[in-house]
Amino acid sequence: MTLVKAYAAQAADKQLTPYSFDRREPGTDDVEIKILYCGVCHSDIHTARNEWGGTVYPAVPGHEIVGKVTRVGTNVSKFKIGDTVGVGCFVDSCMHCSNCNNDLEQYCENGNTQTYNSLSQDKQTITLGGYSSHIVVTQHFVLSISDKLPLEKVAPLLCAGITTYSPLRHWGIKAGDKIGVVGLGGLGHMAVKLAASMGAEVTMLSRSKSKEKDAARLGAKHFKLTTDKDTMAELANSFNFILDTVSAAHDYNEYLGLLKSDGVMIIVGAPSEPTPVSAFQFILGRRSLVGSLVGGVKETQEMLDYCAEHNITSDVEVININQINEAYERTLAGDVHYRFVIDMATL
Ligand code: NAP
Ligand code: ZN
Repeated sequence: MTLVKAYAAQAADKQLTPYSFDRREPGTDDVEIKILYCGVCHSDIHTARNEWGGTVYPAVPGHEIVGKVTRVGTNVSKFKIGDTVGVGCFVDSCMHCSNCNNDLEQYCENGNTQTYNSLSQDKQTITLGGYSSHIVVTQHFVLSISDKLPLEKVAPLLCAGITTYSPLRHWGIKAGDKIGVVGLGGLGHMAVKLAASMGAEVTMLSRSKSKEKDAARLGAKHFKLTTDKDTMAELANSFNFILDTVSAAHDYNEYLGLLKSDGVMIIVGAPSEPTPVSAFQFILGRRSLVGSLVGGVKETQEMLDYCAEHNITSDVEVININQINEAYERTLAGDVHYRFVIDMATL
């Protein structure tokens, strides 16, 4: 066992504080990684505060991890000591169900192991995430990171990047498609950059007028204020796709009506409260409401390579680990431009 330093939530209503725990020694297929940067995802907040239920304390969040390989097991062929690598939202899965066999480990039929607050495949230990000095991960779930891009700006690609890239690819978003991105936060800003890079005509749908200039800089052709009733009425039947990244409960019906016939609204934001949806939103215009969870290992590597090739990174504000509680408050207040990333050297 190796003792690692970390930051943990000890209870839903407590701030994160310094914590230490033991990580397993790298096994034959494992890679040990010294963490350099870890992004701060809204899922970290949902989990630390037990908003989705089921949080096991102490909880160490963090699933946008970039670091250097420090040790490898004897079977590890993909990586060597000193390589720059990444770890995203999950660190293991059954590896034999039909989804795992189709590079869709995120939908493992036997339950994948997420990077934090998740049951390991031994069905005993609960995982602890990237707000820590080191992590040990089986090689299949470790990603190669190009040294071409600044690593602190690459870290958020491991969740915000792949969560938006995967549905854009799955639903085949292409040049000329009109897509509305709802919510300009961590996921939203990556959605705008990625959809624009694929040639789509992006409209930012935001409740924050102050983000209009940024939306244009990120690649959105239009900016529409969702709090304005007249604007929303004018937007009826406008989009082929809507990608909804909002973290809090809101009325999906208001957005479904903005789709053209056969339009698809893709939910990636994960509010803790359910929202009722009217049957007429689907019947009128044959519209669909769908969801998507991060992306598989193969697709995550594809996304990282795509971003390196197209020079796409996240807009980040680098923080010290002792600013994490303030970063949570600012994220909740919508005051994030557009991802906090922890410099783990400050741990
Ligand atoms: P974030 O940075 O906090 O961004 C969320 C954005 O949603 C905000 O910037 C804001 O944008 C909008 N928003 C927030 N509260 C709102 C409200 N009450 N009403 C309307 N709009 C509101 O969060 P994030 O890290 O991007 O994560 C977004 C959500 O995705 C979270 O629920 C997270 O758990 C989930 N998630 C899902 C997956 C997946 O695999 N599906 C992966 C990662 C994260 P505006 O100010 O522009 O309106
Ligand atoms: Zn995340």
